[in-house]
Amino acid sequence: MDLKSLTIKEARKSLDAKEYSALELTDAYLKAIHERDGEIHAYLEVWEKTAREEAKEADEMIARGESQSLTGIPIAVKDNILIDGRIASAGSKMLENYTASYDATVITKLKSQGAVFLGRTNMDEFAMGSSTENSAFGPSKNPIDIKRVPGGSSGGSAAAVAGDLALAALGSDTGGSIRQPASLTGLVGLKPTYGAVSRYGLIAMGSSLDQIGPLTKTIDDARIIFDAICGNDKNDSTSLPNSPRSDLGNSKGRTLKIGVPRVFLASGVNSDVLANFEKTLSRLEKNGHKIKDVDLPSLPSALAVYYIVMPAESSTNLARFDGIRYGLSVPALNIQEVYAKTRGQGFGPEVRRRILLGTFVLSSGYADAYYRKALAVREIIRADFARVLGSVDAIVTPTTPGPAFKFGEKSDPLAMYLEDIFTVPVNLAGVPALSVPMGTVAREGKDLPVGFQIIGPHGNEEMLFQIGNDIERE
Ligand code: GLN
Repeated sequence: MDLKSLTIKEARKSLDAKEYSALELTDAYLKAIHERDGEIHAYLEVWEKTAREEAKEADEMIARGESQSLTGIPIAVKDNILIDGRIASAGSKMLENYTASYDATVITKLKSQGAVFLGRTNMDEFAMGSSTENSAFGPSKNPIDIKRVPGGSSGGSAAAVAGDLALAALGSDTGGSIRQPASLTGLVGLKPTYGAVSRYGLIAMGSSLDQIGPLTKTIDDARIIFDAICGNDKNDSTSLPNSPRSDLGNSKGRTLKIGVPRVFLASGVNSDVLANFEKTLSRLEKNGHKIKDVDLPSLPSALAVYYIVMPAESSTNLARFDGIRYGLSVPALNIQEVYAKTRGQGFGPEVRRRILLGTFVLSSGYADAYYRKALAVREIIRADFARVLGSVDAIVTPTTPGPAFKFGEKSDPLAMYLEDIFTVPVNLAGVPALSVPMGTVAREGKDLPVGFQIIGPHGNEEMLFQIGNDIERE
């Protein structure tokens, strides 16, 4: 079994052909975790015993001829997705000992397929960050160069898959947290259309922005996981109705118009990343697609809008962590002190920064000047995307301005926020986006991967997979 080149698709074939059992496959990953995760720190907890039990059950399903696409496939789960009876800490001291009392909908779906859960992966506290350096439990390392970050906030999930410590992983993306780590570790990462995947059982960051999605080695694998977890859910009031695939104008073999917001790309992208991007564009052109310049004049405002809307929603969502309802509770003389001490000790600096920012932009007298204005600009961004996606089939950008950076390199929060300049507009607009590897750039003698982002119209993940396939095949 060569874990390095193994994909879900291939493992499926081998499992069904009984070349090896799900238990053998799971044991191979557990062994790899034992050998290497001490260094990488992708996992906060590994569920060795139950993973092996789940693998045995999967083997029975396969023996009965009941195998589904993920039966016996060992996956890792970001620490902000609830699994009944398991700790879900969201990378925070606040929830260090919090045990979930129900399954997230995505977990229910994966369980019914007989997937194997290897463990929960490290993340920036409450999904706030782009490097896992904000985790309360120490950062994860990029398996490609351990001096560098794996990206974030789903950095543990990315490090697990890129380091061959899981065959695939779930992450969550509020402003880039699946696509950016995928870009920095050479993986495929999908941020689905807002509402395509249920958020029920995902610890909320920005409720109007959050989506769960896959981090995988290939596009086919991302599609397999997306197919398994998407769908309407009555437990999530923002969940979209089920739409049959056939409704989504099939683009296979069709010449697609692909838009490039060149003006926006002109500033801030590393020149070698831009060169890889141009090379990828010419490949798409060779495959028969038409490349066209597009103008999204609101794009430069997206990061500012995001850093008002997201903290506003986060500060509201995090109000529930008060020392009474969930997790940490620091004893004190009166209730006010319990709140203050618990929140003061439970939350790390980045989370506190965003709570301050969020409560400020929502406070009386400032809400009109900041929060409501940001909502208005968000509508313009949404309309800009809708207009441009009316004239082209997809919009493409580099996923990140540069490759993986070193620990401590972006200690200034604003420098860190700029990592997400190409990913946050997508969450504000609610449309789907896929990051696929577009080669490497050299830094200090190491070849570091970078990603190509494909943004599509509402509900059309399928087209992103098809464009991605054209790039991947090369
Ligand atoms: N890095 C971005 C932030 O810190 C995005 C986070 C995310 O997508 N969860 O907010």
